Amino acid sequence: MERKDFLKLLAFLPITASTMNLQEFGRMTTDLPGTDLMPVLFLGHGSPMNAIEENEFVTGFKKLASSLPKPRAILCISAHWETRGTWVTAMQQPRTIHDFGGFPQALFDVQYPAPGSPDLAEETRQLITHTPIGLDAQWGLDHGAWSVIKHLYPKANVPVIQLSIDHFQSAEYHYDLGKKLSALRRKGILIIGSGNMVHNLGKIAWDKLNTDNFGYDWALEASDKMKKLILEGNHLPLIQFRNQGQAFDLSIPTPEHFLPLLYTLGLQEKGESVSLFNDKAVAGSLTMTSVKIGS
Ligand code: ZN
Repeated sequence: MERKDFLKLLAFLPITASTMNLQEFGRMTTDLPGTDLMPVLFLGHGSPMNAIEENEFVTGFKKLASSLPKPRAILCISAHWETRGTWVTAMQQPRTIHDFGGFPQALFDVQYPAPGSPDLAEETRQLITHTPIGLDAQWGLDHGAWSVIKHLYPKANVPVIQLSIDHFQSAEYHYDLGKKLSALRRKGILIIGSGNMVHNLGKIAWDKLNTDNFGYDWALEASDKMKKLILEGNHLPLIQFRNQGQAFDLSIPTPEHFLPLLYTLGLQEKGESVSLFNDKAVAGSLTMTSVKIGS
């Protein structure tokens, strides 16, 4: 779908009504989890069908959810919101955006009516002083956000905002911006990067969709190297992903699904634990490998 057609379509999407009443919301925002450091996540979202299927990746998300403290709100950096400049969604009630085509109606029927948080949007805008952050009233929740967050909080009772990826900035910019969000972790905010470390849709092996853990050699080579660097806390080669050779270039043909990982890694503090889950390749050219930092 052309971008302009997509934007046209967006204008006709219904604004969903929140299932949460104000009283409930008030209770939640006063029930803050103190100054503990919230974990930070990178979630491999893969196919939008993961939103409605029961599969091992969904099981992985649900298992993760049982280990998470209840956040005050979620800030999500999704591969599917690229902009000029950096924006945060600031509406009371973000719409569920079905930003894909060719999937069953059941997927288009999914609504994820989590409230937004204009307060958190403003707090984020004020926290970031080295670059302007715009307050957005148009976007909502794209499938990079809702298809995974719905498995963590199926009741849609945790407010969610999105932070956009400035398409025109360097990898260093994204890593450093992640770092600058760090104060939010002490205020009960769960920060989630949503993308895929290895993501080359042009090379999907359609005949291997159902083959367990199938990755092309270059995908596995890049994936192994990425995981090693993440577990060692050696982030510089990941920031410089364009200098890592052909396996990386094939795995990251465009950077938008990789960059959310850099936000997540930028938030790792000295000595903080890091663990991997959903660590499998799908259809040759995609990995679902997800990361949890902190506990
Ligand atoms: Zn995606």
